[in-house]
Amino acid sequence: MDGLVVEYRDPLFGVMVFFTLIFVISFLTYSFGLYKEKKSRAEYRKLLQRFELGNLKEEDYVHLYATYNLPFDSIILLASTFLHKGEYNKAIGVYLALLEHVTERVKKEELLELLGKTYFKGGFLQRSKEIFLKILKFSPRNNNALEYLLLIYEKLKEFDKAQEVIESLNELEIDINQEELYIQTLKLLNDPLISFEKKSHLLLEHFKINPDIERIVVKYLLQFHKTLFWENLALFDLKKSLDFLWYLNFDDINFDAVSKNGLLKELYTAKGYINEASNSSIFELDMIIISKHANSHFKTDLNFRFICKKCKTVHPIYESRCPHCHKILTFKIEPELTRKKIETNQSLQ
Ligand SMILES: [Zn+2]
Repeated sequence: MDGLVVEYRDPLFGVMVFFTLIFVISFLTYSFGLYKEKKSRAEYRKLLQRFELGNLKEEDYVHLYATYNLPFDSIILLASTFLHKGEYNKAIGVYLALLEHVTERVKKEELLELLGKTYFKGGFLQRSKEIFLKILKFSPRNNNALEYLLLIYEKLKEFDKAQEVIESLNELEIDINQEELYIQTLKLLNDPLISFEKKSHLLLEHFKINPDIERIVVKYLLQFHKTLFWENLALFDLKKSLDFLWYLNFDDINFDAVSKNGLLKELYTAKGYINEASNSSIFELDMIIISKHANSHFKTDLNFRFICKKCKTVHPIYESRCPHCHKILTFKIEPELTRKKIETNQSLQ
């Protein structure tokens, strides 16, 4: 016994035991680490495979965030692939699932904003409105939320609410003057208690303050008060409304007024209603007039497209608010030549 104790107390033996222990512990830790890493790699690979196949489920994103510590921004970027594919419901699912796991206020706010925007894109206006109102409750100076609320109230035709949002944006010293004039015009346009006659005159007054609403006014007058349009022809820059005038019914055209207006003479000569212009300063009209005189085999026609001056996207239909960048009254009309469909009496059967 004594010998053993001495042996045990031998400092060299103690050092050896110590190092052996360290070695065993390190080895075990290392092996366990390897095993864990291998296991999680296999899981991760499986997950990635599913992602490549486009099969990643909403809860997988939470898994990537909570288990694999993938950065929040990367998860958001991954989820945005749903948006690009137009799968709004799936993106919404990811945001809702992440909201349950995220604790930081900034991330929560970012997720709520994404959720609100996606509801908006998907056409769920009421839900989108609820989300942005929720954001404003704890973050009343959130510009994005206010700007989206303005879009939503405009779409829902709740113009008084839109006005309230404009006032909040004004307090944040955001230049919203143009939006305010525009919303006031929409409010007037949609007011069921004002007669067509009165509305037409009021719209003309709005137009004098804000010439950018020209197309809205011209469209309304050509629909509901043509005489007022023809009486005030000189006020308008008709190049902006070429499409309305091109498609106007023959019987609705005041040819006395047309005979005093160079551009309209060119337009209706090209259309074939009159023969009072031999050329035009607008290339497309000029080509049509020339081809008529040349008696060409190919008949040309006019078509229109619209380009947003802010985001440069091209649209086949005019909209007063660009659906792409959400700016107002930025569409520029561009006429384009097309080949006219020859109408024949022959049956195609
Ligand atoms: Zn745009």
